[in-house]
Amino acid sequence: PFDVLVIGGGPAGASAAIYAARKGIRTGIVAERFGGQVMDTMGIENFIGTKYTEGPKVAASLEEHVKEYNVDVMNLQRAKRLEKRDFVEIELENGAILKSKAVILSTGARWRNVGVPGEAEFKNKGVAYCPHCDGPLFAGKDVAVIGGGNSGIEAAIDLAGIVNHVTVLEFAPELKADSVLQDRLNSLPNVTVITNAQTKEITGTDKVNGITYINRETGAEKHIELQGIFVQIGLVPNTDWLGDTIERTRFGEIVVDKHGATNIPGVYAAGDCTDSAYKQIIISMGSGATAALGAFDYLIRN
Ligand code: FAD
Repeated sequence: PFDVLVIGGGPAGASAAIYAARKGIRTGIVAERFGGQVMDTMGIENFIGTKYTEGPKVAASLEEHVKEYNVDVMNLQRAKRLEKRDFVEIELENGAILKSKAVILSTGARWRNVGVPGEAEFKNKGVAYCPHCDGPLFAGKDVAVIGGGNSGIEAAIDLAGIVNHVTVLEFAPELKADSVLQDRLNSLPNVTVITNAQTKEITGTDKVNGITYINRETGAEKHIELQGIFVQIGLVPNTDWLGDTIERTRFGEIVVDKHGATNIPGVYAAGDCTDSAYKQIIISMGSGATAALGAFDYLIRN
């Protein structure tokens, strides 16, 4: 069996694997796709200490760094079941069962897509998901935020300080965000809120140049010219496969303590799949290190 088995090969998983392997213990990492969300990212400007880099580059250097150590890397493998017996058992989609004294879950999350024409085509060409990451790219420009929940309104308030103008498009008849956020939003001079708006298409040539939506009350089709669109309709943790064994929030995020421990002894978690307050590369890496040190502490006590 492994001493530590990491499930997920994004920034959190890579960090956890390296911290575990550096303790000289038997470490493995299972990843459906090594690199995780970073593989879908173009420019990265907030990886502190590195002014600018690109996602695929970061993903490659994560893999290279992990391979410096004696880590059993199982790429392109998906975990489908976790069970705690004498060891923690992980069943893979290919039928194999891996056993480990401790497991670190770092399966990340995915942004919910609006699923309209143009979204996939213009990803990283005007369509963005993370205001902390990509907001500054739209300085002085006109943008839309799709989604009027807390994350959408937080994004709109954040972006309003950077861009020329923000249009918020909400599908429902009213915004869902907390009223304190709505009050703050309403106090801003460069924000327009449109409710009952069903996004129909994201338009552009080589980059985004506008968005078309349908007014759900009147059926009228409207087009707005703009340069950027932030999709803020939810970040879904990749935790469905865990069933009810591991305590999760109502959003599906794994509940962890300050050591990265879950409710099951020997099972730790890190990164975007957890209930961490913010989801970023450096935050995931930090929590991966925390979970590995937490798991090591567990091993020397048991
Ligand atoms: P992920 O990166 O999601 O990695 C999860 C890993 O788990 C992957 O290897 C995946 O294949 C694997 N996995 C999932 N399910 C299973 C399973 N059942 N079995 C086995 N493996 C599984 N953050 C920044 O700090 N700066 C930025 O500029 C930035 N830009 C972004 C741009 C985009 C387009 C996106 C989508 C995100 C961006 N982020 C950015 C956020 C950042 O990428 C994430 O916070 C970070 O990647 C989370 O790391 P993670 O390891 O927790 O999860």
